[in-house]
Amino acid sequence: MKELLKSVTFSEILIGLKETLKHLFTPAVTVQYPYEKRELPSGYRGMLSLLRYSDGAEKCVGCDLCEAACPSRVITVVSAEMQGEPTKRYAKEYYMDMTRCIFCGLCVTACPVDALGMTKEYEWAVYDKRSLLLNKEQLLDIGDRSFPERDRPVQDQYHNVETFNIGRPQLPPKHC
Ligand code: SF4
Ligand code: SF4
Repeated sequence: MKELLKSVTFSEILIGLKETLKHLFTPAVTVQYPYEKRELPSGYRGMLSLLRYSDGAEKCVGCDLCEAACPSRVITVVSAEMQGEPTKRYAKEYYMDMTRCIFCGLCVTACPVDALGMTKEYEWAVYDKRSLLLNKEQLLDIGDRSFPERDRPVQDQYHNVETFNIGRPQLPPKHC
């Protein structure tokens, strides 16, 4: 009898329509991307970048630790001595192949001088994946636009650095 009533009154269709009407008058939750964008959480792991100190100097000291820490072999660092200052090094060349990055953040954690930062940039879809092989200048540009507030130079933060970081010009020239 119950089944007969159901089929005569089309009650199941009415139940379905009730659900449809309920959703028709519920405010939409769809974000109209790219016109609207979600606010990202503070720990969001987006595009990587290289950072500078407030005087514009590059933070990276070319130690290669990020390259060693990266599980996906994204990073290639070519380090060199600062001219006339054999105790100081810098990244002469720095590359990231972002097609391989899994955004784990291990490179950022490994860096001893906080020279790497993960930005909130995520709109990096490209037609040619070769454009995701980023060089040092490109990574510094990303850092400049994402982290406008920069740390003071190390010698301003730790005044004994200059004492221990004295160049030794009397060192004999290197023979390769
Ligand atoms: S986030 Fe992870 S995968 Fe990407 S470069 Fe850093 S260490 Fe490598
Ligand atoms: S980014 Fe940091 S860990 Fe990587 S080479 Fe530069 S100083 Fe070393």
